[in-house]
Amino acid sequence: MYKGQKSVRANIEDFLCPFTDMYITQGSRGIFSHRGVYANDIRGKVAGIRYPYYAPCTSKCLKIYPESGQVMWQSLNKVRFANGRIDYATYMTAHDDNVNVVIGQIVNQGEQLGSMGMKGNATGVHCHIQVSQSNDTSWIKNEYGIYRFNNEYDLDDCYFVDYTNILYGMGGNFRTTGQVPIIEMPGSIALDQIIHPGSRVMFDGIFQVDIIKRGTNLFGNTKLTGVSYMDYYNELASSYHWIPLDDFTEVDKYGSEVGQDDIVYGGQSYVINKNVYTVKEIDIDTNSAKLVLNNREIWVFSAFLKEVL
Ligand SMILES: [Zn+2]
Repeated sequence: MYKGQKSVRANIEDFLCPFTDMYITQGSRGIFSHRGVYANDIRGKVAGIRYPYYAPCTSKCLKIYPESGQVMWQSLNKVRFANGRIDYATYMTAHDDNVNVVIGQIVNQGEQLGSMGMKGNATGVHCHIQVSQSNDTSWIKNEYGIYRFNNEYDLDDCYFVDYTNILYGMGGNFRTTGQVPIIEMPGSIALDQIIHPGSRVMFDGIFQVDIIKRGTNLFGNTKLTGVSYMDYYNELASSYHWIPLDDFTEVDKYGSEVGQDDIVYGGQSYVINKNVYTVKEIDIDTNSAKLVLNNREIWVFSAFLKEVL
């Protein structure tokens, strides 16, 4: 990204690559200090230069470790990652020789976050970066004694590289925002997300079709309803577990409809649903909501529904 760059779609910031020029000198899950962790070391165009880097999203400084020029940051709101996930970002940058932020400080997307450096145990000027796609701030040692977050992802699953010059990307599948289209959700105004009979809801996410029921237009999804292939095989799946496919659209695993033929297969295809439904009943014990899709009552876990206006 360049200084001052912003990227916001459907009120959600895209998580941008903090570097204008990116040369990865040590990749993820490598040796030494990256053993078993999704950490990357980045230098700029010319080795040895302390290039600035910018806030990939509007971020708050949570912790500072002065001896290693290390800062833990967290996004102020949920962001969109390059793998299509929408969640909080918690991330660590290290080796800045001149950390000039304070705990609690908020840096807007595109503003300078720090500079590449050599502070701490660094060989050569670089920025060490590690990203968690969650708001979990646990910073714990793995089996090799290397610090890591929970829910870490590699950089190509995190950053959008619009206006980043990739000098050496170590073979990563880096994407721009144009390659990850957004799913427009009506009613993006924040609601309390407490679902009750009468709530208007949408399916929240991209779902894999786990099982297709032969001879019908119905599918099973373990995540949404809890029905498993073995339930189906053993004929334990009651009628309401099956979801009509009619209101769902086939997408790829990042949510793109481009190039999909709408012929879905169990265990392979992904679908989204952009319709709004009214909740008929709730079941507190299983935290499920009853919806009616194509005249069929189904129970789905509330965690995969999003309340809308
Ligand atoms: Zn490193």
